[in-house]
Amino acid sequence: MAFKKRLSKIAFLGLSILLAAACAVQDISDETVDVDGASSTADMTPEETEDWSVKPVQLGFDADMKPSDAISLFDGSSLDAWQGDDGGAALWKVEDNIAHVSAGAGGISTRENFCDIQLHLEWRSPSAGVNGNGTGQNWGNSGVFLQSRYEVQVLNSNGNETYANGQAGSIYKQYPPLVNASKAPGAWQAYDIIFKAPEFAEDGQLISPAFVTVLHNGVIVQNHSEIKGSTRYIGHPFYEAHGCAPLHLQDHGEPVEYRNIWVRKL
Ligand code: MG
Repeated sequence: MAFKKRLSKIAFLGLSILLAAACAVQDISDETVDVDGASSTADMTPEETEDWSVKPVQLGFDADMKPSDAISLFDGSSLDAWQGDDGGAALWKVEDNIAHVSAGAGGISTRENFCDIQLHLEWRSPSAGVNGNGTGQNWGNSGVFLQSRYEVQVLNSNGNETYANGQAGSIYKQYPPLVNASKAPGAWQAYDIIFKAPEFAEDGQLISPAFVTVLHNGVIVQNHSEIKGSTRYIGHPFYEAHGCAPLHLQDHGEPVEYRNIWVRKL
């Protein structure tokens, strides 16, 4: 009797092991299906993976290739979308559809606050440095400050040596551009910037850093770079909590020019 009991226990144990092994094989088999998808798609029709529930908005484009859902920040007519450092009118000169950095007038900031954005702008550094002798950081220096804190450097970096994380297309003192896509000084250049704003908890703690992607003349020079904090001339970057904030263009004392500036909220 005892022998029979022991035998049935062994049989039960063996059966359990076999079942567990079968399940394990099934799990592995399922994983394999999930990875290559071959058997899970074998019986499907093309229509089963078509999404008709959304319809992306059809955009149009103007002569400057500004998409129809963009907010124009400067179309050549006025700087009404901007203000000076004192909150009054932006004092940069507008002439020939171009906004000219007016040295000493201070930077200009958008009247509107922005968080996640796609930004397009065109800029031009002078064909020579100030008084013909500008070099390094003093040849066509300006800057695009995202949320007034995170600078994408504007500078003539064609035949003009400076520190790599301070040249055109850099995130100032954080990341050099991946390549130097600078045109010759005096030529118009384009930045297309995709910016993901940082997120902060109510107590000010950083939840998610900012990320930025930059195309310089259509060439990617920042690929989803993680911003380390406010860009600083002296010292290491760090974050301070803030909300949506204006875009800011820098007056560095050199006659840089801007045109065709627009933004899309993401
Ligand atoms: Mg600058």
